[in-house]
Amino acid sequence: MKEDEWKPDANLKVWAMEHFNQMAMHAIWRPDGTGLRYRKTADNALTLEHRVDHPDTLIHHTKIVKLYESVNIEIEDDNPMVTPAALSAEEAYRMEIQERQAIASAWSCSCGVKLSELDLESAVPTYLGDKEILLDEGDTQTIEEWAFRVVCDCKEIINMNPDDYNLLAGDSLFMRYKTSDNQWVHAMTRQEMLMYADSGQKGILVGSRCPLTQERIPPWVWGTYCKVNMISDGEEE
Ligand SMILES: [Zn+2]
Repeated sequence: MKEDEWKPDANLKVWAMEHFNQMAMHAIWRPDGTGLRYRKTADNALTLEHRVDHPDTLIHHTKIVKLYESVNIEIEDDNPMVTPAALSAEEAYRMEIQERQAIASAWSCSCGVKLSELDLESAVPTYLGDKEILLDEGDTQTIEEWAFRVVCDCKEIINMNPDDYNLLAGDSLFMRYKTSDNQWVHAMTRQEMLMYADSGQKGILVGSRCPLTQERIPPWVWGTYCKVNMISDGEEE
């Protein structure tokens, strides 16, 4: 098998570690287009829970095992559920999103309130700090850790993993950040950019720092064209 010769490069290893570290415990991961579903089952392990019955999924799985072995994360694959290949890519995608949302909506605060019932609109993307991750050659790489911070009615502060938040709250709440002077900066959709362009309005081009305040902003908003909304007086902080 040619796949035996495949080796992950350093960038891919960094990505793999970063991705693993950002996953919440018991969170699931379905790499796009692979027909595979993994769950984080320990600080250093992923479990293959499901795979579509197709030779390509085994090739993808072999590569993922190699990639994660190279960064000292174990992949358990003793007993995955195997289902027939879906009829179409579109159908498979729809099923995947539905399944992911169903799983995400079962997550809850320690008081029992479901995360999906929290006021997700008020959640603020928050920089938690830098994290050093260790690569297998002994090199380290620094990554930024971010979370969506939301307060439950029981007063518990919940730092939601950005991917989980995106699943529950959707793209339009996900693709924005809040400045220290209380402005929400939203990445525009293509349709919104079209409207701005046609009406002569101007947005702001966002790099790795906020152009308004020079503050740190979440990496998933880097390199987007944004509109700025002042928070109205009635809105609570
Ligand atoms: Zn709670």
